[in-house]
Amino acid sequence: MICREMNTELKKAGKITKNALRLSKRLVNPEVSLLEIADTVEQYIMDHGGYPAFPVNISINDVAAHYTPDVNDKNIIQEGDVVKIDLGTHINGWIVDAAITIEVNDNKYKELINASKDALDSVKKILKKGVYISEIGKVIEEVITNYGFKPIYNLSGHKINRYILHAGMNIPNYNNGSLIPILEGIYAIEPFATNGVGYVKDGSASTIYILQRNTGIRIPSLKKFVDNIFKRYKTLPFSRRWLYRDFNEKYNIDLYINLLKKNNILYEYPILVEKSKGIVSQWETTFHINGGVHDLLSID
Ligand code: MN
Ligand code: MN
Repeated sequence: MICREMNTELKKAGKITKNALRLSKRLVNPEVSLLEIADTVEQYIMDHGGYPAFPVNISINDVAAHYTPDVNDKNIIQEGDVVKIDLGTHINGWIVDAAITIEVNDNKYKELINASKDALDSVKKILKKGVYISEIGKVIEEVITNYGFKPIYNLSGHKINRYILHAGMNIPNYNNGSLIPILEGIYAIEPFATNGVGYVKDGSASTIYILQRNTGIRIPSLKKFVDNIFKRYKTLPFSRRWLYRDFNEKYNIDLYINLLKKNNILYEYPILVEKSKGIVSQWETTFHINGGVHDLLSID
């Protein structure tokens, strides 16, 4: 019973995610604001019966991941940008996480974009229960280096559990020699390719947060705020933009964010930037592995 519900919800989350990525692709055009893209796509997910599993990430050029527009963000898409749209949908905690790369009105980085896409397609051919995670990494690394680029060595795919986006086990983007096998479960595979050195470093703060705990908070109003965050986003990432949308009238958001960060109740992700300012492409999908292998983005 639980299994059947999981399947139904995952499939539905997959369909919404696929269509949300399609919508993003249409929205990414010169002069369009990142704020408009994120708000529109997140609203689309909610209008179709899902919730965003995390704030839509719109990471451009040498920014590899974790950029989401802030409240009043003024950034716009520009000609020639290499734009990674990374988004997720969850239904009752069952998450599908996926990403595409779009080059805006140019073909300069076509091969770089093909490299990460081809790497993901090649993983699909070997993925099954029992495959070592290093074999997956090996395929990703080989495909990307054959294009003349580097994978990003310190970014990886990951196992997904209910309401947990990064469930402990990482899937490397290179052959790390690990003999840990893929078991039944839900896995996001996400090759990143770059013309840089192949590593990301922490950039500035992202305004994307996750709750570290919701216990041991003594100030009642702060406790109430955290309880409301937990009720709304559970153990999934959320953004300052969402807090302003959902709680603005009731709380002094920035004061509370600072207090919660200082007390290690909120963790704020850093924006991840390629170390040598290389351009980065990414492709991602989520697989449900049981007896077979199901790409949750290609289920109708
Ligand atoms: Mn993702
Ligand atoms: Mn992911």
